[in-house]
Amino acid sequence: MSQHPSHPSTPDSPEAQQRPPFFMTEEEFNAIIKALMARKVTLPCQRCGHTKFELQPSYTTIPLVPNPNMASSYGVFIPTAIVACGNCGNLSFHSLSQLGLFKGGEQPPEVEIR
Ligand SMILES: [Zn+2]
Repeated sequence: MSQHPSHPSTPDSPEAQQRPPFFMTEEEFNAIIKALMARKVTLPCQRCGHTKFELQPSYTTIPLVPNPNMASSYGVFIPTAIVACGNCGNLSFHSLSQLGLFKGGEQPPEVEIR
């Protein structure tokens, strides 16, 4: 996994002030890497077999909808970290809740498997 791209030494350092506002903090970045390593998330890329990955420095969310015709603005989301293969760019998404890194927000909805 890569290092955080901004490497701020302190919250008020010039590097931290230059960090794009949508970047996570270095502490958050390192916590995600630690959580993935603790769970042995170390297999090669499922698409190309490459072994180098880049944790993206921003979060994303995956919207949950009760049926595919609903807009993604339904309001229920899975907060997610993104890991990209360093060769082919294949993206892997890791739920922050499952990694124990997200406690806030609403409770996940009851999901009925049909
Ligand atoms: Zn790949």
